[in-house]
Order: sequence, then structure tokens, then C-alpha cells
Amino acid sequence: MKRIAIIGGGISGLSAAFYLEKARAAGSELDYVLFESGQRLGGCLASDHIEGCLVEAGPDSFLTEKPWATTLCKELGIADQLIGSNDSQRKTYIVVHGRLVAMPDGLMFMVPTRLVPTALSPLFSWDTKIRMARELLHPPHPMQDDETVAQLVERHFGPEVVDRLADPLLSGVYGGDAGQLSARAVLPRFVEMEEKYGSLSRAMLAAHKKMAEVAKKQPPQPLFTSLKDGMQQMVDAIVARLDPAAIRLRQHVRRVYPENGGWRLALEINGDERYDAVIVATPAHVAGELLDSVDRELAQDLLQITYSSSVTVTLGYYKQQLAKLPRGFGFLVPRSEGRRMLACTFVHNKFPHRAPKDKGILRCFLGGARDEAVLALSDEEMLQIVRQELHDIVKVDARPIFTRVYRWREAMAQYEPGHLARVANIEERVAELSGLALAGNAYHGIGVPDCIRAGREAANKVANLTAEAQPARP
Ligand SMILES: Cc1cc2nc3c(=O)[nH]c(=O)nc-3n(C[C@H](O)[C@H](O)[C@H](O)COP(=O)(O)OP(=O)(O)OC[C@H]3O[C@@H](n4cnc5c(N)ncnc54)[C@H](O)[C@@H]3O)c2cc1C
Repeated sequence: MKRIAIIGGGISGLSAAFYLEKARAAGSELDYVLFESGQRLGGCLASDHIEGCLVEAGPDSFLTEKPWATTLCKELGIADQLIGSNDSQRKTYIVVHGRLVAMPDGLMFMVPTRLVPTALSPLFSWDTKIRMARELLHPPHPMQDDETVAQLVERHFGPEVVDRLADPLLSGVYGGDAGQLSARAVLPRFVEMEEKYGSLSRAMLAAHKKMAEVAKKQPPQPLFTSLKDGMQQMVDAIVARLDPAAIRLRQHVRRVYPENGGWRLALEINGDERYDAVIVATPAHVAGELLDSVDRELAQDLLQITYSSSVTVTLGYYKQQLAKLPRGFGFLVPRSEGRRMLACTFVHNKFPHRAPKDKGILRCFLGGARDEAVLALSDEEMLQIVRQELHDIVKVDARPIFTRVYRWREAMAQYEPGHLARVANIEERVAELSGLALAGNAYHGIGVPDCIRAGREAANKVANLTAEAQPARP
């Protein structure tokens, strides 16, 4: 019987546990234990019910086009609980000189694909609009170095698009800074498009045409998918499938050591335990510490993957208090606006089943790569900032019915230039260590579906381990 330890009970570790449980139920000779240092499972995924509203502490959804989360929900028997974003109301605003300006139609991520709405939009200056038109003539260009997203976008569309689109969009997704994130790691499709077409706009138009042909044959998919009762529903459904005796909460793993072809885990409580295989599903900075005695170079690479922190501040209101709020999913705040808020989601517009008819929810984001200092503030100080900025930007100054602040310290991996080479190096070294697998948001995607895929691959790797595999490196 192979004994497998999973370290970390976020969605990556839980997915690994679910797929191991599935293999076990199908007759694989294995047993697993999931170690989680906190009091609850789910990591960044957590949903609260407050005053009849559903409040997401961390992720509120996942990208529909990435299939692994939907597949998992189907396997869990909760496919009927999946809900799509209200895309008919999808409109996102950018704050420009303190006021909301709608992103023009035809903007795909940050690339214009329709000239008229872009030309009429007050989001860009005439200089930028002329640059966008000229971008259509951009010649194919193989990227030599690992540029930052800001460098790539600026080469095509100029600095205003970096400031008003690339940077706010990436601080929304990665809690990151376009000037620090690797284009190859974060926007690989842009790099491929540039190599093939030169112009990103022409490449997007070609992709758009293909998508339109596929859409003719298939019903349209919502951009984002969530669950009726929140992202926690996925966590609860996984936990319900696991053997309760295999879950160890409040059990911090301190170190992992190779021992006689297997692994010894040094635990904070109850001493050491031995396993045949280990899945490390923690953030990379924790994985680096855990594996320092296994392979120093591997540990160093893991420790070099930086993380940013994030804070979500949710405020619940009566609908009439939000009368001045425009339609749409919310707004993004460029750095040049000099605000602390990075973004705000109008939750009740984005998804159904989030608030009763008479209530609305605003979810604001603070922190990110440029504002770690915000974590030192008290909840009251953060609320004061958010309420002041909501007043300034969308004229909401009513007292909310409820508020919640959630802090996510060092939760979002930052894929900096050199990331892909570093991950390749990490994977090469891990491949030499039999019975060891890594999962999490540090390697091949930060979103929930990527974490699920990583957990599943880690489970497959260790469950398929055969006797002839290499011994662990001493
Ligand atoms: C505010 C916020 C909003 C987000 N929004 C979205 C979104 O809308 N869509 C999307 O797809 N993604 C989103 N993400 C990203 C996504 O949620 C995360 O990348 C993903 O949940 C990470 O999962 P994980 O299991 O890899 O790590 P985590 O959730 O960080 O879990 C790791 C777990 O390991 C445990 N642990 C750590 N060290 C040890 C140890 N030594 N021993 C035992 N246990 C340990 C921790 O306690 C934790 O529970 C968001 C993230 C945040 C923070």
C-alpha cells in the first residue's frame, strides 16, 4: 500500500486529494493524508453568508474557457450548481481623472479589435488612437528576451495603454505590476501572436473570426463561471468525498526529508511520519523552506518566486443606496490615479444568486505588488480608505449594512521575467526525485482551474509511481 502525504489544503491540495481518492476507490493500492496548517480547508477559496448576501473572501469565479474546474465540478456531481456571469451586463470601467470611462466595445483583454468604438472612446488620447491604428502594420517580431508585459504592450500601443489597461487588468488578475510580470509567462498568446502576425490587433481579429465560427455551432459560453452557493461549494463537495480520517487540520508541516527511498515529514505536533510519496501544494516560498534539506538548488529556485498580497473589502448596501452606480461589472483604477483601491466589482450585477433583490454588494481590492504596506492597516483604516474612494469615484457615501475585510498575505505568485526558465529548472530537479510532486499557483497558472489541473497532475504523478522509479536524492 503506497502512503502519500499532501501538504496544503487549498484548492491545489484538495484537488490532488480528490483524484487520489478517486484512484483509491477504483482499486489503486494507495492511502493518503492531507496536512493543513490552518483551521479550515480551501485556502484562498472561502464564501460567507451575511445578511442574505453571498460574500466571497477570495476568488469569486473562474475562467470558463479553462476546463479543469468545470470538469472537477462534474466529477463531484455539482455541475447543476454552476452559474455563468451575467455577460449581457458586462461592462467594465476604468477610472480616468477620477471619473468612470467605459472600456470600448471590441477590446479583447487589452487589444482593440474594432476601430470605431476605440476611435470614439474617451479612454485614450488621439496619440494613442493613432498608435493603435498604426499597430495594424506591426511586422512579425520574434521576442528575443523575456520582456515584461509593460514593455510588450508599450511597444505595440504606447504607455497610455500600459497605464490605463495592462497594469490595472494585471493588478486585478495577479495582484501584479505590468512592469514586473513576464510577458512569456503571463501572456504567452500575445507572444505567439506577435511572432506570427506582428500586429496583436490583426492576430486578435483572426482569433475572433475563428471563435465566431465555433460560436455558430455552440451555445455562447459565459466569460466567468461560479457556483450558486459560492466557491466554497466546490471545497465542501471535495471534502465530502474524502475520507475524514485522512484530513489533518491545524497540522503544520515543518520540513520534508528524503529517507530510505521515501520521505519523512517533520510535523509541528506529534513528531515525524514516513510516507512513500509527497505532494507539496503550498505557496512556493513555503515549498522552498520545506524542501531545503532535499535539494538546496531546488529550494532556492522555489524561494525566488515572489508573491504579492491582496485584501478584499466587501460592503453590503440596500439597492436604493446604490442608485448612482452605473450598470456593469465594476471598475479598475490605474496607478496614475493615485488611489489605493485597485478595483471594485459590482457583485450583484456580475452573478445571479449573490444578493436579494433589495440589496447590492461592492467588493473592493487593495494591496497588490505595489502596496504591501496596506496590510499593516487596521480593518477600520481600510474601510475608511475604501469608503472615501467609493465616495470620490462613484458617489456612494451611504453607510453600508455590513462590511467584511479579508487579508491574503503572500497569496498571489508573481511570474517575473525568467519565470518559465526557473520553473523548467524546478521541474527538472523534481523529476529526479521519485515520489515528489509540486502543485499550486506558482508554476503554470495562478487561477483556480490551473491549480486544479496542477493538483490532478501531481496526484497522477505520485499514484502512477512504480517500483523501478529513481530513489530520492540524498
Ligand atoms: C483575493 C483573491 C482573489 C482571487 N480571485 C481569483 C478569481 O476570481 N479566479 C481565479 O481563478 N483565481 C483567483 N485567485 C487566485 C486563486 O484563488 C489562487 O491562486 C488559488 O486559490 C491558490 O490555491 P492553492 O491551493 O494553490 O494555494 P492556497 O489557497 O494558498 O492554499 C495553500 C494551503 O497550504 C496551507 N499551508 C501552507 N503552509 C503549510 C504547511 N507548512 N503545512 C501545512 N499546510 C500549509 C495553507 O494554510 C493553505 O491552506 C484569487 C486569489 C486571491 C487571493
